[in-house]
Amino acid sequence: MADDCLFCKIGAGKIPSKIVHQDDVCFAFDDIAPRAPMHVLVCPRDHLDSLSQVDAPHEKMLGHVMHVAAQLAKQRGYDSFRTVINSGTGAGQTVFHLHVHVLGGRPMSWPPG
Ligand code: 5GP
Ligand code: ZN
Repeated sequence: MADDCLFCKIGAGKIPSKIVHQDDVCFAFDDIAPRAPMHVLVCPRDHLDSLSQVDAPHEKMLGHVMHVAAQLAKQRGYDSFRTVINSGTGAGQTVFHLHVHVLGGRPMSWPPG
């Protein structure tokens, strides 16, 4: 856990949020400013700033995080959903703890802005 990290604090229960999934590897919670009827963030428990820091030892964790993302969307009945990982300020990342956005429940355009 990184002491100054918002999402580490959410994962540790130190900051309240609507947790929708927890296991040993990751946790997921509703985004505070949802951009779709479903907008969940899936985070690994181990702190990584972004996808740029991922290396070979993280591959299993990443696969699990993506599996959980898909399961959460399917549990809510969404056949169509979008997963997004913003990596770096220029890509729109604002919280520097790796997370997967899972968005569903509305039509989505392409490419994203
Ligand atoms: P990013 O911009 O880094 O890809 O995504 C960060 C996301 O975290 C944003 O969608 C933002 O709404 C969400 N967020 C920021 N602060 C909080 C918070 O305190 N609680 C929750 N649940 N979500 C947050
Ligand atoms: Zn963190």
